[in-house]
Amino acid sequence: MLFHRKGPFSEDPPNLNSEMHYFTYKRNDLYCENIKVKDLAKEFGTPFYLYSARTISEHFHKIKKAFSSIDPLICYSLKANSNLSILKLLVKEGAGMDIVSGGELYKVKKVNCPAKKIVYASVGKTEEEIEEAVRYGILMFNVESLSELRKLEEVAVRLKKKINVALRLNPEVEPRTHAYIITGKKGTKFGMDRHSVKAVFFQRQEYPHLNIVAIHIHIGSQITQAAPFARAIKKVKSLVDELEIKGICLKYFNIGGGLGIVYDKENPQTADGFARRVMPLLKEMSARIILEPGRFIVGNAGILVSKVIYLKDTPYKQFVIVDAGMNDLIRPSLYEAYHKIIPLVRRKKAENKRQKLVDVVGPVCESGDFLGKDRYLELKEGDYLAVLGCGAYGFSMSSNYNSRPRAAEVLVKNNRAYLVNKRETYKDLVDKEVLI
Ligand SMILES: *Cc1c(COP(=O)(O)O)cnc(C)c1O
Repeated sequence: MLFHRKGPFSEDPPNLNSEMHYFTYKRNDLYCENIKVKDLAKEFGTPFYLYSARTISEHFHKIKKAFSSIDPLICYSLKANSNLSILKLLVKEGAGMDIVSGGELYKVKKVNCPAKKIVYASVGKTEEEIEEAVRYGILMFNVESLSELRKLEEVAVRLKKKINVALRLNPEVEPRTHAYIITGKKGTKFGMDRHSVKAVFFQRQEYPHLNIVAIHIHIGSQITQAAPFARAIKKVKSLVDELEIKGICLKYFNIGGGLGIVYDKENPQTADGFARRVMPLLKEMSARIILEPGRFIVGNAGILVSKVIYLKDTPYKQFVIVDAGMNDLIRPSLYEAYHKIIPLVRRKKAENKRQKLVDVVGPVCESGDFLGKDRYLELKEGDYLAVLGCGAYGFSMSSNYNSRPRAAEVLVKNNRAYLVNKRETYKDLVDKEVLI
């Protein structure tokens, strides 16, 4: 047949070489740590997200260790994955939190994250959100505009509090990553330009209730090289030098997140490699460093498990229709992101010859509803498969589109699997609606 394969087997164990993870085949079964994933699929049904607690803590400690000589505050960026059990685990490990909304503040309060380890970024913080964060006593607001600065001053006066502020600088560097996840380039909505940041520092007496004591940058996401980070940090350094001449000293410098991970054939910098490159620059500054990793910590710590509903042959290729769709994992449709797809039960090598060129697609009524295109897989109806690298921006970006209940989330921790978020029910879909 026309679509029989020649290349390397896509069923070969995933090569997530540079980063430790705990999803591996033992004999022919995929395991998460010491638990057979197929057993979980039978127990909890599909689709579901599955996370490895060990992978999460190890990734956190990799960053911590790499930067240990400067003892930074590591604020996990919870928009990558805000499952409460994962947050609790990271808080226990000593992580702070980088939040972007009132809802995220609510979540970090739930897991008792110390207020003095919380930083808050977002271009559109509402007055209510600001007030709640001030009342909780968070460490700092990462401010993105003059209007926000004025609003903060207003709230501070009203609540009779002093508020710590970092100004988010748009360093105008262009990392090589998908356009939708570049944030530190000229023309994006994030941060303030150098000139405005400098002006605020020089006129900071106009905001008597704000301690304007820090600079924040976050240049983008899934950045695999250190060079753009180094370029951005050097730009901040020259700004800091100008400020110091005028007697203004920074207490904190927040270098954001954005560290890339392995999805396909990337060869991203390791935490150590990244630290080796940027630490010499950071050590030239006296400010305490803050990091905001998200994807790096959870990305390769999660998979999406799904089941094949139908195989559909066409003259061009086979479609493998599975029970997870773009509402569960939107990254392929939104960013043309690549995720490896492997079966939960690996076939014997001889059978691999029957692998076909297939598109793995969901049931949602959109042409953009695919999880992987042009993959070589041999699957039968009823088989289970795993979409790898789904720990970050997977569940947290999922929706109810097509009135599909959101998937369950399962966490493997200390040799046990826990259902940490129940699958939504049909009732959940209509619960808040008011029928008139
Ligand atoms: C999203 C975000 C992060 C985390 O980005 P990753 O690429 O997941 O590391 C960090 N800081 C800010 C301000 C963000 O918006």
